[in-house]
Amino acid sequence: MRLPKFDYHQPTTIEEAVAALAGSPGARLLAGGTDLLVNMKLRVDLPQTLVGLDRIPGLRGSTQADGRTVMGAKTTLKDIQNDPVLLERYPALVQAARAVGSYRHQTMGTLGGNLCQNTRCRFFNQSQEWRSVRSLCYKAGGEDCHVMNKKGVCYSTYSGDVAPALLVLDARVRLQGPDGGREIPLAEIYSGEGKSPLALGPSEVVTAVVLPENSANGRSCYLKQGLRGSIDFPIVGAAVARFDGGLRVAYTAVDRSPVRAAEVEAELEGRELTGELIDKVAPLCRKAATVTRTTTQPVPYKRELMAALFRKAARTLV
Ligand SMILES: Cc1cc2nc3c(=O)[nH]c(=O)nc-3n(C[C@H](O)[C@H](O)[C@H](O)COP(=O)(O)OP(=O)(O)OC[C@H]3O[C@@H](n4cnc5c(N)ncnc54)[C@H](O)[C@@H]3O)c2cc1C
Repeated sequence: MRLPKFDYHQPTTIEEAVAALAGSPGARLLAGGTDLLVNMKLRVDLPQTLVGLDRIPGLRGSTQADGRTVMGAKTTLKDIQNDPVLLERYPALVQAARAVGSYRHQTMGTLGGNLCQNTRCRFFNQSQEWRSVRSLCYKAGGEDCHVMNKKGVCYSTYSGDVAPALLVLDARVRLQGPDGGREIPLAEIYSGEGKSPLALGPSEVVTAVVLPENSANGRSCYLKQGLRGSIDFPIVGAAVARFDGGLRVAYTAVDRSPVRAAEVEAELEGRELTGELIDKVAPLCRKAATVTRTTTQPVPYKRELMAALFRKAARTLV
């Protein structure tokens, strides 16, 4: 499959990148390209202009500052796996980076690109020919969501591996836009809406991810169930971190954004964590998201996986 035509900018500073985005409405950032370029080849994403991040220095690698860990948005998933400090402090993050796609996706794919990847659906991530046998779905420019048979909504699913790991580790995201920089909790970059899953301003760039010092004191874990051992997106991915006073739990591939299992966390707060207690609250995990049939796997199976992965991850930590 060939790429459609597009204009390409290669700014050398973040300010230039922001200006290039602001100057071409609909322009998109290009990091590793392992998500965006595939969607462009499928003709489900057709930006006229791409703004490459490759020539901007200072966005790759992790540093420790004021007791916090700061990871540049261009840090690759392989860089994360090869960083001994990250492995010791944030094992869930390293396990999630290891779980992404294949070797090539991990060497090319970046932290920023992974967090900002598009949502997915069996009616959307298909070739033009496949999609031409029925009306376009709402996300691809039509009227109806074929998953829910509803007009004007999109239930496509966020399926990135890294976001749930960062959610349980209390990550924050640094953004740069036309009005300057800001830092917000990671959860706030997601809109919870399938058609436009990111809540960033049109010209905003993720520049870094910030983690608190020793978030969860090294007690965190990410587990993924996929169809095969590599290349596949998660059917369900679950991250769990142990803090004084309880557990934090987050999921991917079950809703329109990565989700925290608030009810489960509340049920465990302040209680002595035992295997018995974990088994008792595990069924609550099934209700942590609005699971829809955006993949070929049935919804009850995915709900069952949410409980099973929680049980396994939480028991590992306890
Ligand atoms: C066969 C296949 C299997 C895959 N398997 C998995 C998997 O198992 N798990 C998984 O998580 N992903 C998977 N992916 C998706 C993708 O490879 C990864 O998510 C990768 O990390 C994306 O990073 P990237 O740098 O290549 O993003 P890009 O493709 O460059 O960008 C993705 C999106 O993020 C935006 N973006 C990029 N950087 C920034 C930034 N700094 N600020 C704001 N927006 C930005 C881009 O504009 C684009 O919309 C798979 C892809 C394929 C094709």
